[in-house]
Amino acid sequence: MLTLERPAKIDTSGPDLRPHAVVIGSGFGGLAAAVRLGAKGYRVTVLEKLDAPGGRAYVHHRDGFTFDAGPTIITAPFLFEDLWALCGRKMSDDIDLRSVDPFYRLVFDDGEVITCHADPELMEQEIARVSPSDIPGYRRFMTRSREICAVGFEQMGHVPFLTLKSMIDAAPQLLKLGGHRSVYGLVSSFVKNEKLRVALSFHPLFVGGNPFDTTAVYCMISYFERNWGVHFPMGGTGALVNGLVGLIEGQGNSVRYGAVVSQILVENGVAKGVALADGETMAADIVVSNADAAFTYRNLVQASARKRWTDRKLENVRYSMSLFVWYFGTSRKYEAVDHHTILLGPRYKGLLDDIFQSKPLAQDMSLYLHRPTATDPSLAPEGCDAFYVLSPVPHLDAPIDWARVAEPYRKAIEARLSETLLPGLSDNLATSFVTTPQDFQDRLSSVKGAAFSLAPTLMQSAWFRPVNRS
Ligand SMILES: Cc1cc2nc3c(=O)[nH]c(=O)nc-3n(C[C@H](O)[C@H](O)[C@H](O)COP(=O)(O)OP(=O)(O)OC[C@H]3O[C@@H](n4cnc5c(N)ncnc54)[C@H](O)[C@@H]3O)c2cc1C
Repeated sequence: MLTLERPAKIDTSGPDLRPHAVVIGSGFGGLAAAVRLGAKGYRVTVLEKLDAPGGRAYVHHRDGFTFDAGPTIITAPFLFEDLWALCGRKMSDDIDLRSVDPFYRLVFDDGEVITCHADPELMEQEIARVSPSDIPGYRRFMTRSREICAVGFEQMGHVPFLTLKSMIDAAPQLLKLGGHRSVYGLVSSFVKNEKLRVALSFHPLFVGGNPFDTTAVYCMISYFERNWGVHFPMGGTGALVNGLVGLIEGQGNSVRYGAVVSQILVENGVAKGVALADGETMAADIVVSNADAAFTYRNLVQASARKRWTDRKLENVRYSMSLFVWYFGTSRKYEAVDHHTILLGPRYKGLLDDIFQSKPLAQDMSLYLHRPTATDPSLAPEGCDAFYVLSPVPHLDAPIDWARVAEPYRKAIEARLSETLLPGLSDNLATSFVTTPQDFQDRLSSVKGAAFSLAPTLMQSAWFRPVNRS
């Protein structure tokens, strides 16, 4: 794990004598690692297979609309601020980060709406409106969320868990706080109302986990939101990506696009560089892979150099769900729609079972609708709105032929949105394209097209996950 240090001075007068680090992938993880390595005095080359940076946070430009492909909710801005500080800069000089309030609205299948407010008092009023008897339990839940955050994030967030011992040392505290339970299980021990249970437990879906079997450590997200808020950068999440690339270039380092790494070169158990698909090889003192962890071990590291993450083990781990994402622009504005809306279907646990047990595509759906133009109208032409809607779906183990199913499924989503949040949608579409689980596999090199790599279950957390150093 790389720690915060003062910026290294770059001497541009002679040959570059800094040790060389290669970073595979320019997702947020790769860009952050590159900035940290640059600050430690490395000459860094980031190699990205796509034609632009960001990975899951890639930016699509279509017909005058700007679409962030993935992340839309920033809950820990200080983690980005650290990266700017490492370069002797202030993030606010480059990035205009705005608070989003309300955080989101949950629209239930029967039409009931629960609004998640930034203001704790308004939030309590909302809980009281839905279920007055759950107020004491809700308060206790928020206290527990803070306690989990204090241990799981503040104490352990920076621990790399390189050894089993570090995990065993951490376990008692997390178990005491309920880390062995599921998020839904812990929430349900505090509140009784079923809709509130949904509203307080859906967060693991943000990280690819089923609320019914993701470790309750992820209940910390509720406190994250309460304490640090929900944010969105003007210009879209892509502004953060571009800002990080600017930091890397400012360190005298570079990001190369269209550079597909085909192998991490290992000698005597130590990574010595990379081979690219076009035949080039590049020596390095340190290699960081920001590509999907399972893909990295399976495809980039020769089998003889792998002890723990064998093909067999990687086949038997549990992968996160995938996503179907429909990006679209409308020729009119939908002012009544907030920045973040969650439109729930008739089933919660049943739908999650279908998704996480890789069953055939369900007929019902729960959707997250992103309307970034609610915060930054410049992401669409004047008088228009940019949207994306995502539907959690099974990864590629499910018997679903996305080439055949994508358009009917998109149409079903369009119908659902037309009859609920976006009346007249079909007549107002200005641009439209989709991403399917197949794209997560083919474009982003995610094993099984899982949108969030290995699922965040207890037995796949910390040391049990592929750790940061091999
Ligand atoms: C639709 C969606 C919505 C999301 N919403 C949120 C949100 O609101 N808030 C949030 O915090 N998180 C969100 N997430 C999760 C977040 O996007 C990811 O956790 C994060 O972006 C992952 O970054 P990463 O750097 O680990 O990986 P990636 O972004 O996947 O980066 C990996 C990079 O490696 C490149 N690569 C792979 N193989 C090679 C190779 N062989 N050679 C060269 N390059 C290679 C890929 O092209 C890619 O650019 C969302 C994710 C999705 C998909």
